[in-house]
Amino acid sequence: MIKIIRIPAFKDNYIWLLVNARTKNAAVIDPGEAQPVLTILEANQYTLQDILITHHHWDHTGGVAGLFDHTKATVYGSEKDAIPCLTHPLNNRTSIYLSSLELTVEIIYIPGHTLGHVAYLIGHKLFCGDTLFTAGCGRIFEGSTLQMFNSLNSLKSLDLTTEVYCGHEYTLSNLRFASQVEPTNANTHTRLKTVTQWQRENKASVPSSLSLELETNPFLRTHIPSVRSSVEQHFQQPYSTELQIFAALRQWKDSFTY
Ligand SMILES: [Zn+2]
Repeated sequence: MIKIIRIPAFKDNYIWLLVNARTKNAAVIDPGEAQPVLTILEANQYTLQDILITHHHWDHTGGVAGLFDHTKATVYGSEKDAIPCLTHPLNNRTSIYLSSLELTVEIIYIPGHTLGHVAYLIGHKLFCGDTLFTAGCGRIFEGSTLQMFNSLNSLKSLDLTTEVYCGHEYTLSNLRFASQVEPTNANTHTRLKTVTQWQRENKASVPSSLSLELETNPFLRTHIPSVRSSVEQHFQQPYSTELQIFAALRQWKDSFTY
């Protein structure tokens, strides 16, 4: 059995610690900071053996060197991203076996936010960094719009029961944008109310499920006529392809103020 521990970092990052309940061996995903992870490892006598990185941004990798010094854990990530202490470049592999967790992790290549961005699929749990967010998606910093669009489409095709573990707590602000794009989407409205309440109670809104994302995340809904007409209305021009709608939606979100 794998226990998942959510470790908040910085303002709104999440570090995910996965623990093999039988052996107390652990793997960590995107440790932006070392100290909060070390504190939990020491308090519970967990042994960190693996570090998995989705992409090179400092808020996802800032703790790698510190953890590596303490634990000599193996470090996985794409060789296309500059990842500190990278011991095991993924080299287009589609899966890796983690002895810490005694299971196989599927690798999904999802460039766009960065060129070497990957997601890790562990059973039905998807660790997708800054590509698919709850109710949103990451900014396109290094890749092309087409790459990001294709990356999100590859995540869209996963099993509906997939749980989405992203790298930030952005759900509320993403839903404010989503409700502007789809003011008549009842699911978005309900989710906005729920997450607003959670925020008041200081409750995390991550993970979510892929089925909920498909119902409420406008970036996964560019094929829906109401999303299309909303984007066309915003920019006062028609679009002929779903990719154009996605590009315009991303542009709209980039300039959206809450
Ligand atoms: Zn990032």
